[in-house]
This record gives sequence, C-alpha cells and structure tokens, in this order.
Amino acid sequence: MTDHRYVYDLSEGSAEMKPLLGGKGAGVAEMMRVGVPVPDGFTITTEACVETMKRQGEWPEGLDEQAWEGLQRLEERTGRKLGDPDKPLLVSVRSGAVISMPGMMDTILNLGISDETVEAIAREADNERFAWDCYRRFIQMYGEVVEGIDAHVYEDALTALKESEGVESDTDLTAEDLKGLVDTFKKLSNEKLGGNWTTDPREQLMRAVDAVFRSWLNPRAFVYRKANKISDDLGTAVNVMQMVFGNRGDSSATGVCFTRNPATGANELYGEFLQNAQGEDVVAGIRTPKPLAEMEEILPEAYQQLTATMKKMEAHYRDMQDMEFTVENGKLYLLQTRNGKRTAAAALKVARDLVDEGVITKEEALLRIEPGQLDQLLHEAIDPSHSEKPVTEGLPASPGAAVGEAVFDADLAAERGAAGDKVVLIRFETTPDDIHGVLQSQGVLTAHGGMTSHAAVVARGMGKPCVAGARGIKIDYEAKTLTIGQTVIHEGDPITLDGSTGEVYASALPLIPPQINEDFQEVLSWADAVRRLGVEANADNATDAAKARELGAEGIGLCRTEHMFFGPDRLPAMHEMITAETPEERKTAVDKILPMQQSDFEGIFTAMKGLPVTVRLLDPPLHEFLPNLVEQSLKVQELELKGAGAGELDKERRLLAQVKKLHEQNPMLGTRGCRLGMLYPEIPDMQARAIIRAVMAVLEREGETVEINIMIPLVFNPTELETQRRIVADAVADELSKAGKEVEVRIGTMIELPRAALVADKIAEHADFFSFGTNDLTQTTLGISRDDAENGFLTEYLQTKVLKVNPFASIDVDGVGQLVAGAVEKGRRTNPKLGLGICGEHGGDPDSIHFFHEVGLDYVSCSPFRVPVARFAAAQAVLRATK
Ligand code: PEP
Ligand code: MG
Repeated sequence: MTDHRYVYDLSEGSAEMKPLLGGKGAGVAEMMRVGVPVPDGFTITTEACVETMKRQGEWPEGLDEQAWEGLQRLEERTGRKLGDPDKPLLVSVRSGAVISMPGMMDTILNLGISDETVEAIAREADNERFAWDCYRRFIQMYGEVVEGIDAHVYEDALTALKESEGVESDTDLTAEDLKGLVDTFKKLSNEKLGGNWTTDPREQLMRAVDAVFRSWLNPRAFVYRKANKISDDLGTAVNVMQMVFGNRGDSSATGVCFTRNPATGANELYGEFLQNAQGEDVVAGIRTPKPLAEMEEILPEAYQQLTATMKKMEAHYRDMQDMEFTVENGKLYLLQTRNGKRTAAAALKVARDLVDEGVITKEEALLRIEPGQLDQLLHEAIDPSHSEKPVTEGLPASPGAAVGEAVFDADLAAERGAAGDKVVLIRFETTPDDIHGVLQSQGVLTAHGGMTSHAAVVARGMGKPCVAGARGIKIDYEAKTLTIGQTVIHEGDPITLDGSTGEVYASALPLIPPQINEDFQEVLSWADAVRRLGVEANADNATDAAKARELGAEGIGLCRTEHMFFGPDRLPAMHEMITAETPEERKTAVDKILPMQQSDFEGIFTAMKGLPVTVRLLDPPLHEFLPNLVEQSLKVQELELKGAGAGELDKERRLLAQVKKLHEQNPMLGTRGCRLGMLYPEIPDMQARAIIRAVMAVLEREGETVEINIMIPLVFNPTELETQRRIVADAVADELSKAGKEVEVRIGTMIELPRAALVADKIAEHADFFSFGTNDLTQTTLGISRDDAENGFLTEYLQTKVLKVNPFASIDVDGVGQLVAGAVEKGRRTNPKLGLGICGEHGGDPDSIHFFHEVGLDYVSCSPFRVPVARFAAAQAVLRATK
C-alpha cells in the first residue's frame, strides 16, 4: 500500500492547500480553522483526480482505503453511520476545482438515503414528506449524474404523477405520493441499468466520487475552461460533507449573500434567503427569495451570527466574499465562501474602498483588478439583463457594444450616420474607401479579416466597436442582406454587436453607458505612480489625438500618415502621386498633398502640444490606395463601349496602364514603407517639410509645440535608413533655416522585419529611436498574412491548440519576442541613448505589455481607447516583477 495521501479531513486543511484541496475544500477547511460553523467532512484531492485520469479511470493505489477511512472518521465524529437505520449519516458529494467553475461539474446531495434509512430521517425531522422528497431527489440526481440516466426519465414520471393527482406543483404532492414516486424512480432506474441499480449507500458513495472525477471531462467543463484559460490538467477535488437541511421547517432556511453589493461595489448588506427550503429551490426560482435584511426578524440569532461571519470572512480574506449558508433548526452553517464575482464598476469601487479602509494596499488593489474590466468601463456595453442568444460570433476586434440598423454600403452609412441615424456597417471586409462610412457608424461587422485587419485597426483607433471575421455569415450586396443560417437581416433591420466578446445579435439590445468615473480615475492614478513604461497612443487625426490625451496618453507613438489619405476627398491626390509617370507630374501631385499634410499635422500637434509626437512617413501597401485592377479594366471597357470622348478614355487607359504596372501579387511584401520613399525621394522630402512647417505654425500660434520624431517604416538594412534619414534631415534643415528657427528633430525607424531586428546594431547607427512594428514583425516572422490569418488555418490552430494564443493579439514571446529582445540589446549596444518603443497592436495587450516591460522598452503605443488599460497593465508588470 502506498503512503501517498489523497484524503484530508476538513480540520486538516487550510486556504494555502487550495491547489491540492480545490477552492471549495480549502475554503471550507479554512472557515473551520478560523471557527466559522461549517458541516463536517473530508476532501479527496485534485491529485487523486489527475492520477485517475492518467490511469484512464482507474483509481490510484490507496485511494479506496483512504476514502473509507475518511468516511469512518466522519462517522465517528458525527456519531452517525452511512446506511444506519437508527442514526443515518447523509452526505453531499461535490466537485471543487482549484479555479472555481460554477455549475460546470456535478454535485450529488442526500447520499445515504435509502429504504433502510428513510424512516429514521422522517422520524428525526418529524416530517415524513421531507424524508420522501429527499429520497426521490436523491435517486433523480444520482441516476442522472452517476449512472448517466436521461433526466427526462424522471421528469416524465414526475409530470405523470402530478397529472394523475391533479396538482400543479411538486410541493402539492403528499408524502404518500412521493413514496410511490420513489418506487417508480427505483423501478425505472433499475430497468435503465438492466437490473444493475445500486442501492447500497457505501457503493453509491464511491461511485459518486468517481462520477465527480469524470465530470472534469464533460464537454461543458471543457468549453468553460477554454473560455477562461484554465488548464485541462488541473483536475477537481471531491468534497464529501455531512448534509445540513434548510428545509426542516420554519426555523430552517437557506440563502446566499455577498459582503458588498456585487453590482455596484457599495458596502451594504446584499443577499437573499428562503425559509424552509433547500439550495436548489433558490436556484430553481420556483419561490421568490426574500432580501437578507428580513431574516433579522424571522431568524434573529442565525442572522446576527451570519452578519458577524460575513464581516469576519471579509476581513480574513481581505476581499469581498460570496457566501452560501444554511440554517438548520436555528443553527447557522456556512457552506462556501469565495471571492465574489463582481461587475467591472464594482471591482474598482471595492478596490478603492478596501484601500481607504486600510484593508489592502494600493499595490494589492492594482493586482486584483483585471485589465479587461477597465476596458469594459470605457465603452458602452450591452445591458447584461438581456436573455437574447447571439446569432453568430466573430473576433472581438474592437471593444464596446453597438446597436443600429444594418447598412451594407459605406456611402449610405456615412450619409445616414451624418443625418443622425444609428447604423451598423456590414462589409465583407473594409478598405480605406469605406472610412467615411466607418466614421459615421455605431460599429462595424465584417465577414473577413482578423485582429490586425484594416477594419479592426481603424475601428480600434476610433473606439468603434468591431466584430471581424464573423463565422458563417453571408453578405449579399445586391440583395442587401446578411444571412446567418436561418436568420436573414435586411438593410434597415436592427442589429447589435458586442465588440468585447465578438457576439452578434439580430435585434436591438439595450446598452449601458461607459463608466469612466472617480473610481476609474483614482485607480489609474495609482497605476501611473507605479509604472515604468511610458504609454503613448497611435493616432492620425486631431480628434483621436485629443481623445488619447484625455485618456492619459503621454504622446503619439505612431501617426500613420497614409491614414490621412483615406476617404473620397483625399484618395484622388494619393492616386495621382503614386501613379505619376514623370518626376514633374509627381512634383505637382506632391505639392497638392503638402498643404493637406501640413494642416492635418497642425491639428494633431495642437492637440498634443508639450508632448512627443512620432510621425511615420508614408507606408502604403500600394493596393490600398490604387484603383482595383479589375474595376479599372471594366471601367475602361465600359467607356470604350459607350464611345466616350478621347480625353476621358485616354485618362482612364493611362491609369489602367499604371495600375497594371504597379500591380503586385503580394502587396504586403511589395512597395511598402520606405521602399516607396527610396523610389520617389520627393515623397519623404515633402512629408518632412510638411511636418516642420506644421511644427512652426503651431509654435507661432500656440506658443508651444510638440517634441517631434520622424519615423521611417519597414527598413531591413542600414543603407535604406541612412538614405531616408539624409533626405529627411536635409529637408528639415532647409525648412528650419528658412524659418530661422532651431528645433530638435529626432529621426528613427520602425523595426518590423526580422532582418531589421537581426541587424539592429547596424541600423542603430542611423537611428535616434526604434519603434517595434509587431504587426508586420509577427506577419513576417511567422509567415502568416495578417489580413487573412484568422479566416483560415489560424482559427483552426487556436481551436486545436497548435497555437495557445493568437500571435496577432498577444505577442509570440518565444519567436517574435526573441527578435525584439535581441534588437533591444543590439540597438542599445550601438547607441546607449536609443529610444525604444512598440507601436504594433500588441502595445495595448496586457500580456504583451508585461513582456515589453521585461525586455526594457521605454514606452508602448496603442489605440487611444486602450491607453487606460495599457497604463494599468504597465503598473501590473512592475508589481508582478517585484512579486
Ligand atoms: C506594425 O507593423 O506593427 C505597425 C505598427 O505598422 P502598420 O500596422 O501600420 O503596418
Ligand atoms: Mg507595419
């Protein structure tokens, strides 16, 4: 026999033993340890479950004996015996995982009730009906959970009985009725099991323990663990505890309570109870529970004891508790206590109050709040009281909820949105052409595209909810319909998106407003005092910049200048510049663009005065800015057929020829980033001039300007940067000398290609700063197209766990992370003063932020609406590191 221990009496456990005893087992043991009344019992460890899973269901050596001994000790302590006809012991058998998984696994109550014991139970309770009701409930629960008998077998028999007795509710059945029902249940169970129905409580106990082990593997538990990132390897503990009954008459009750209000966080009594009832009556909602305050009159002693215990347990755990209790004949028992789940708003209020009350430090409070909870408060959210089911799900690409009428066309969305209508833009995917529609919509839904797709990046930047790459949706632009299975949404029909979960609803759900309140600001001010990383924002217009600043951004870490050319009024100038055939033509186009750039920059610089702004020179995947090849060919054909005038035809033909010339099979690996500036130096020259002119204009007008950084995108070798730097520096010097001013201008580069990371020491010779473009760095390191990934195999990879996390959402630490860490080290070796930041989408992801903190970056830059979460995650990174 092995001496490995698998069974612990409750009196032997404590909160620290949670990994072994599970949350519930350790929690009850801890309550017992500090003198809170709990029913007695023992716990079978999570290890026993893990070992049993490893052995394909066979218990490890020694478990059987130890479980018997545990039962024997419980029998001795309680003076009762399982199956004893005089003083029977009844127990509950409950699962208890290390991380709570409410309702996911199984529970068996009233085990020990049998033909032999039922009379004794009736006698003790002085209530025959109670005893037979317990018995029939036991058979039902045991049959379903342990023996896998279909629930409807019992439900049908119960319904038939009620019908034949002519009663409506279970509670109208008499003791005699229930006695008959027990007989029926036993017969049915035995039939279903081919005569193998067990009636011996001892055997039932062991089978029940085994069933709880198995319930770790049931499908809903898998789904829950996946959604909550809980490892499948942890296993569950099993708690065997003496039953206490809240349904023994009017001096008995059962209920739940929270030590603070879990919806608002207010420090007030919160809970409800039912007199003469069992736990499941509260859950089943057959009777309406009463507010806890009313218990004071009905059961005064138990009430006093309960409120004292609530205070005691909250002080003990130093956090808001969610507790379950039962009063049996006036005596209070606590069945469970755990840190209470709470809304995001309550989480902040409780944290702040506990700090004010001196219970926890600010640092502890910061570590307790989930970054995602802050995110929820920044946006409108769907009112959680709804009971609607989503019609589909996509990627939660930009958080917040949107309600509006379905619109399939960006022009219409722009028009109706501007007129004050609430619309949701639905597109197969979005392109720069759609930007005006996105801007005027409540939110965006796409069938195609991932977390770094155009729609996702743009929506996040604007703080618009977006669900990208929604599964199984068909969009018919002609018919103006969205079809999801049987559901057809027509233009104008209501639709609701939840960009925080990715869920889509085919109706208009009620929303609740953002809650950026005092608690929010206070908690963030604690985070600011702790964090080392700077937090800047990605913004490319004055509105977003102002929003970013309001949300606490300490600068603009990425101003994507190509974004300034989205929209129908700007795109033609961009076309003209890209498709110019001669330097003169290009110069004309560039001269048209310069004032547009300058005025955009002036807006941004005014919003950000006093802070650093990093402007990135043009980085256009060309296809995003050129007319579509097929569409342009068709246009020319149509004009030819129509016999259009020579002038117009010639213009469109020349454009077609240019589009053909510039057409690339892989535009993402094509003439992007600095490559365009290498081919056409007029472009970086113009952009540098526009930047300096804007800096000067703002200085003149506002008396203050920004710290200006100019950034060259997508370099992979030092010569590119050297060349671009020279063009920019010359233009800057020329503009400054014309203005007769001196301003410090830093010139740096994006590191977003693996080769750039590998030769970072050489590149650093020409750079004042690096900003890691982890979107492209992920795309090119993993060789996964960032626009297509989530529509194809990546989703499958995530489902089958080939990949644990989406590398476009959270940094691939082992691969991309290694390149970042190496480039940091190499860059600093060449230039110890090199500024280091990150501006890919990972800059707003809490896990990635921890990594960027660890590798020693100076700042992260993310979409404006992710700034608060980034400030907060940066503080958590410091606290986790010191922990
Ligand atoms: C990046 O690649 O991470 C980046 C910030 O640049 P963009 O997303 O504009 O390609
Ligand atoms: Mg990039």
